Amino acid sequence: ALNQLPDVSLPRYVRVNTLKLDVDSALLELQQKYSVEKDDLLPDLLILPPGTDLHDHPLVNNGSIFMQGKASSMVAPALNPEPGWEVIDACAAPGNKTVHLAALMKRKGRIIACELNKQRIKRLKETIKLSGASNIHVLNEDFLNIDPKAPSYSKVKAILLDPSCSGSGTAASRLDHLLPSKAAGQDTDMERLNKLAAFQRKALQHALSFPAVEKIVYSTCSINQIENEDVIKSVLPIAESHGFELVKPFPEWHCRGLPVFKGSENLVRTDPATDGEGFFIALFAKKKNVQKKKQ
Ligand code: SAM
Repeated sequence: ALNQLPDVSLPRYVRVNTLKLDVDSALLELQQKYSVEKDDLLPDLLILPPGTDLHDHPLVNNGSIFMQGKASSMVAPALNPEPGWEVIDACAAPGNKTVHLAALMKRKGRIIACELNKQRIKRLKETIKLSGASNIHVLNEDFLNIDPKAPSYSKVKAILLDPSCSGSGTAASRLDHLLPSKAAGQDTDMERLNKLAAFQRKALQHALSFPAVEKIVYSTCSINQIENEDVIKSVLPIAESHGFELVKPFPEWHCRGLPVFKGSENLVRTDPATDGEGFFIALFAKKKNVQKKKQ
C-alpha cells in the first residue's frame, strides 16, 4: 500500500544552506542530474521532481542542502530575524529551523537553541555542526524554566516557538488512522490534544513575556484547530496587553487561518494535499508605536 501514499505525486523540496553554498551554485550542481526549479515564494528553496531520492547526495551529506519541506521552510523566514539580533529557538531539536535562522542571520548575532529532551540534543548538535553555523548556543533546558527577566536574555529580540504537537499535518500521522489499533483511541486522542494545547498556550505566553522581544513566530505541523487557531485566540488578549499584534506573513499565500476569530486571516495554513504537509504559522510583532515609546 505504500506506493499509494498521496505524497508521491508532490514535488520534493530542498533548502539551500546559504551558510555553505549559494542558491545558484546548488541549482547548477543539481541540474546536472535532475530537473530543478527555484521556488517562487522562498529564495533559498529548490523544487525537484516527485520521488527524487537525495538521501546520499554529496550536497546533502556535506550540509550544503537540507531536505526540508516548503511548509517547514516558511517558518524561519516568517520570523525574519535581522542579522545581529539575539534570537531564541524555544523547542529546537532536530534543528532544521534553528540552522535556517542562522542562514537568514548571515552568521551575525546569536541564537539560543533550547531543547528539553536530552536524547534529541544530540541530533540538534549534529544538525548545527553540519550547517557550519558557529553562533548557536545549545541549551538543554525546559523553555518554560528560562527566566525572561535574567540579564542574559534581556536582549532577545525574536523567538521561534515550534512546540511539540500532534503532528497531524505530516504524512505519517495522516496515515495513522488506517491502522486498526487506532480505531478505538478517540478519547485518549482528545486528552492528548488537550494536553498538547495547554503546553502550547503556556509556551507562547512565556515567549510573550521576554522584555525586549519584538517578534514571535508560533508554528505547528498539526492541522487541528485546537493546537492552532484556538491557541492563538486564547493568547491574543495577553499578547495585546504586552503591546503585540498579529501580523500577516506571506500576504500572497492562498491558505490562511480558519475564520474562527477576527484577525485569523493573518495566520498561515498549508494544505497537506497540495503543499505536502499541514503546517500552521502565526506571527506576533510589537506594535510600532509601542516600540517607539520604549526607545
Ligand atoms: N523546530 C524543530 C525543527 O524544525 O527541527 C522541531 C521541533 S519539535 C516540533 C518540538 C521539540 O520541542 C521536540 O524536540 C521536543 O523535545 C521539544 N520540547 C518539548 N517540550 C519542550 C520544553 N518545555 N522546552 C524545550 N523544548 C521542548
